Amino acid sequence: MVANSICAQWRVSLVNLCGVVVALLALSPAPATAVSRRFSTVVIDAGHGGFDRGGIPGQRVSEKIMALDVAQRLEGQLRRAGYHVIMTRDSDVFVPLGERVRIANHYGDAVFVCIHFNSATRAGANGIETYYYSTNSAKLAADIHRQVVAGTTTDNRGIRRRGYFVLRRTSIPAVLVECGFLTNPGEANLILQNTYRQRLAERIADGVMGKPNPPNRPVVAGLTHVPSPITQPFDYHDFVRAEAERQPTHRGARKKSSRSSKKKKSSSSSSKKKSSTSETKKKKKKTETDD
Ligand SMILES: [Zn+2]
Repeated sequence: MVANSICAQWRVSLVNLCGVVVALLALSPAPATAVSRRFSTVVIDAGHGGFDRGGIPGQRVSEKIMALDVAQRLEGQLRRAGYHVIMTRDSDVFVPLGERVRIANHYGDAVFVCIHFNSATRAGANGIETYYYSTNSAKLAADIHRQVVAGTTTDNRGIRRRGYFVLRRTSIPAVLVECGFLTNPGEANLILQNTYRQRLAERIADGVMGKPNPPNRPVVAGLTHVPSPITQPFDYHDFVRAEAERQPTHRGARKKSSRSSKKKKSSSSSSKKKSSTSETKKKKKKTETDD
C-alpha cells in the first residue's frame, strides 16, 4: 500500500516533469547556426587503390593516392563534427566494387560519398562534377557539389545522373565527386598542394553536413540543363545531362550523337574508374547506356 502510493506520487511527479520538459523544448528555439543531422554515419569511398591506379595510361599524378588523401582529410573533418565515419579503404589496397557497396549497405542511417579525380585525353579538360543515381541522392549531390565548386576557381561541370555501379547498387544516398582533372596541368598542380586538397575535403564535409549553399556559380556553357529530380524551393541550374568529355559542343551534334557518344564515353576515365574487372566494365557500360 505504502509502496503503491509512493509509486503513484512518482508517477504524478514524472508526468509533471515530462510536461515541463516538453514545454521547455517547445519554447526553446533551435540555434540559428545548427545543421540538421539527417544521418549519423558517413561511408567514405576513396576510389581505386592497389593495382588499380585510376586515371588513364601514362597519367603523371596517381588518382588513387590523391583520392585517398582527400578521403582521409574528409574523414577527419566529419569525425570532428561528430559523425560516425567508415572508410571502404584506408590505405593503398584494392577493394572490389561489390565490397564497397556491401560496406555501404551495411549501414542504414548513412550516406555514401565516393572520392575520385578525373582524367581525359584532352589536356584542357578541367573542372569538378558530381554524380548521383537515385532520386534520394540528388539533394546530397547538390549540397556537396555547390560547396565544392564555390571553394574553387575551376570549371563547374555540373551535377550529373549516371548509373555507376557504386551509385546504382547502394541502398543509401550515394554520391560520387570528381574533384578535378589530374590530366590538366594547371588543375593537377593545384591538386598536388596539401592546402587545396584540404579545402576540397572541407567543402565536401560542409556539403555532407548540409550547411547552407553558397551562392551558386554558373554552369559552363554548352551543357544541357535538365529538370531537377527533386522539388525544392531553389534553383537547380547545375543539374546537367552527363556527357562525354570528347563530345562535340554544338547542340545539334550533341543531340544527334547522344547514343553513340555515350558508348564512346566508356573509354574515358570517369567511366573506367568504377570498373575493377573486365566483367564489371561490360556490365557498367550496359548500364550507362540505360540512363
Ligand atoms: Zn576514379
